[in-house]
Amino acid sequence: MGINPFEMATQQLESAAEKLKLDKGIQKVLSQPERALEVAVPVVMDDGRIEVFTGYRVQYSTIRGPCKGGIRYHPDVTLDEVKALAAWMTWKCALVNIPYGGGKGGIKCDPFKMSEAEVRRMTRRFTVMILPLIGPEKDIPAPDVNTGPSTMDWMMDTVSMFKGYCAPGVVTGKSIELGGSLGRKEATGRGVMICTRELLKRLNKDVKKITVAVQGYGNVGSISATLLAEQGCRIVGVSDVSTAFYNPNGLNIREINKYVETSKNHLLKGYSAKGVEEITNEELLTLDVDVLVPAALESVITEKNAKKVKAKIISEGANGPTTPEADKILNEKGAIVIPDILANAGGVVCSYFEWVQDLQSFFWDEEEVNHRLENVMSKSFNEVWNFSKEKKVDMRNGAMMLAVQKVATALQKRGIFP
Ligand code: NAD
Repeated sequence: MGINPFEMATQQLESAAEKLKLDKGIQKVLSQPERALEVAVPVVMDDGRIEVFTGYRVQYSTIRGPCKGGIRYHPDVTLDEVKALAAWMTWKCALVNIPYGGGKGGIKCDPFKMSEAEVRRMTRRFTVMILPLIGPEKDIPAPDVNTGPSTMDWMMDTVSMFKGYCAPGVVTGKSIELGGSLGRKEATGRGVMICTRELLKRLNKDVKKITVAVQGYGNVGSISATLLAEQGCRIVGVSDVSTAFYNPNGLNIREINKYVETSKNHLLKGYSAKGVEEITNEELLTLDVDVLVPAALESVITEKNAKKVKAKIISEGANGPTTPEADKILNEKGAIVIPDILANAGGVVCSYFEWVQDLQSFFWDEEEVNHRLENVMSKSFNEVWNFSKEKKVDMRNGAMMLAVQKVATALQKRGIFP
């Protein structure tokens, strides 16, 4: 059993709070979610059986604005995982300076073993169970692992049915036809690419000579791989839950994307091409590459394998992929970790753009979305890079210190109610 993700998030907060010499009382407030809801989600399955799934919505912080964070469908979802993810959302939104707090949700289930109709009924019932908490002005869900635009479309429709009017601003990551934003699907991967590109610039590395391995080939991983390949990087390894592939001469990302578009559950399994070797997920993490992009789940780089990780740059597409022990080992080895709350913030930045567009019923073209995203991400990268250098801390501590300070200042200015 690996480290509990909420324990991990707590350790990261403690480290930043100590370096900031944060008031202990303020730290106590920031160490707990404001509200956590557990719900039972009964679903009539296609064969007439009734299943009851457990779902969660955690509102970690409303200090800087409404809660914001994705909904995950996965067999390993726990309350502590959702709490950790909600904490990271809080720091992420503060770091990139968008006016949100942090939240997260999830259902413990295996969507791959369910029909689309079962997933839809589960989503609608879950939405109703968390209805008292969500709304454009208080808590705005979005997609995460194993959820996507259709999940958000069903949530938006369910809320709209209860409200009696069309309520697009209640979720982000919707289909474009329902008020989704152009560029949202690609935004997290685009942010990973921008941060990686900016770091390579600071290190005077030629992007065309860079090799990359990507763990997880879902929304974040596949787009990160595609956009890094477009920049000229050589993507030599990719993996997902089904398998992992390696080609030292570079994988054909366009061809792989075409393959997963139509493969079963959009998985890599079954893909083959000349020069491509099938390896294990563990081997992928320790490939001799310049950049490793973990873009699957938490705790994949641990004290057990961190020594063997050869990449000198780790761009965290996933939330919480590196444990605090592994962080120390990577630092000692001189590797640079672009922390999750910075590297994968592109998704929530574009979700914010979607929410703003929905509230104003005025939509931007893709160029404008990408241009604004580029500005926010490169500015945030720059702030973290400069601050970390100035304070002589690694980028995770630098990013956490900047973020926690912003939330703490907002809390101090508001005061503790009543
Ligand atoms: P997704 O469901 O689209 O993709 C997840 C991928 O991880 C899939 O390819 C899956 O097969 C793979 N995976 C699962 N278990 C694995 C394992 N044991 N080994 C290797 N691969 C495995 O999810 P996503 O939206 O791409 O999210 C991935 C990560 O990025 C998560 O940590 C999520 O919280 C984070 N994230 C997502 C967004 C977003 O906008 N979707 C934004 C910020 C952060």
